[in-house]
Amino acid sequence: MAITPMEIYKLLPKTNCKKCGEQTCMSFAFKLLNREKKLEDCKPLFEEEKYARQREKLIEYLKPLEEATETGLIVKEELCIGCGNCVVVCPVHVENDPYGCGSGLAPRTDKLILKVENGVVHVLNMDMCRRYGKNRVLCVVCRENCPTDAISFLEG
Ligand code: SF4
Ligand code: SF4
Ligand code: SF4
Repeated sequence: MAITPMEIYKLLPKTNCKKCGEQTCMSFAFKLLNREKKLEDCKPLFEEEKYARQREKLIEYLKPLEEATETGLIVKEELCIGCGNCVVVCPVHVENDPYGCGSGLAPRTDKLILKVENGVVHVLNMDMCRRYGKNRVLCVVCRENCPTDAISFLEG
């Protein structure tokens, strides 16, 4: 399930008190999702008892953020069957090894984002992923080619 700023916002105090350093609760919600802020930065949420239920719901809702990589990519290793589809189809891998990878073979380069080792895919150089950084693109190629839904994203 994708985490959205609006769903986060709905559970925040919505007072725009600015104690978190943001002008609005909505802006805080965006920063939370981008991991530029932590939930604890919203002081009223933790200090005022009337927000206790919202706080618990938010903690539960934001749990996937903890297991996601910095680009929002989540690999559920227990679902991975090590087929290597995600490795071969990743457009960055194909770009780096158009002849090998582009022909359906394992990419012949050490610089990989995803790599199957001991039958399970591992995330390596996330900074190479198209979802990384300011000019990121919401690429979904690996997820779309995973036969077991082992790959998901926080958004998109
Ligand atoms: S501290 Fe919490 S309630 Fe205040 S603006 Fe930030 S997110 Fe909203
Ligand atoms: S999101 Fe795109 S660029 Fe990133 S690992 Fe998956 S296929 Fe590769
Ligand atoms: S496509 Fe899915 S099942 Fe295949 S290696 Fe990648 S994550 Fe694992």
